[in-house]
Amino acid sequence: LVSRDFHPEDTVVNVGPAAFGGKRVIVIAGPCAVESEDQVMQAARAVHDFGLSVLRGGAYKPRTSPYSFQGMGVDGLKILAQARERYGLMVVTEAVDRESLDHVAQWADMVQIGARNMQNFELLKAVGQIQKPVLLKRGLSATIDEWLMAAEYIAANGNRDIVLCERGIRTYETKTRNTLDLSAIPVVKQLSHLPIVIDPSHSTGQWNWVAPMARAAVAAGADGLIIEAHPNPTEALSDGPQSLNLPHLGELVSSLGLIAEAIGRTV
Ligand code: PEP
Ligand code: MN
Repeated sequence: LVSRDFHPEDTVVNVGPAAFGGKRVIVIAGPCAVESEDQVMQAARAVHDFGLSVLRGGAYKPRTSPYSFQGMGVDGLKILAQARERYGLMVVTEAVDRESLDHVAQWADMVQIGARNMQNFELLKAVGQIQKPVLLKRGLSATIDEWLMAAEYIAANGNRDIVLCERGIRTYETKTRNTLDLSAIPVVKQLSHLPIVIDPSHSTGQWNWVAPMARAAVAAGADGLIIEAHPNPTEALSDGPQSLNLPHLGELVSSLGLIAEAIGRTV
């Protein structure tokens, strides 16, 4: 179902006013994790002021260490919903299991399936059975075929509104957190009709490498970006080192316009 052989035209996935896979490059931005109402509102306001329409923020966090901040759960989802009301934004947030999926489906506009759950087949089946668009991240060590098969699980269960997200893969390189596979953009576009967005935050792991890779992704034809941004990155409870501060997010967004224009798109 996700193969281009089956469906030659590009799929457009609509999340409110944001059309993934259309002419416009959709920039999703916001903190890694929801930490407080104040933090989310500051980020949401910036996202709105920079002309963007989709806010990210995790309420359920799949952390490497059990001692790291695990997320605010439903209270976090309610803060995101408040930001949606106040700033007229769409909200994307991660579900980590069936239980959190029930809550996320109730409060958010788009469900994120994280890299660690890309092959959680029961979760993929469950998200296939709901009527919300899905952001499906590539697994840490997944091939493109495995990633597309994960998308196939969702589509086969009834949900065709899938946006793929390349977020970097494990390689022998250790200077970057992951290795951003930008070639996934043309490869996925040839194999599938689904939109693809790039996450330069989790792939590089360092904030000052985010903008160059974001610009490269737009030049390579990405349908969107997902960028971690925090009002005060040094105080972030997760992924601070890779988070842009809000002025830097604004600068990055304004720098994308000319690149998009060069390939016949807008931001
Ligand atoms: C995230 O988006 O904050 C996240 C946990 O990403 P990934 O699943 O790509 O590691
Ligand atoms: Mn993160």
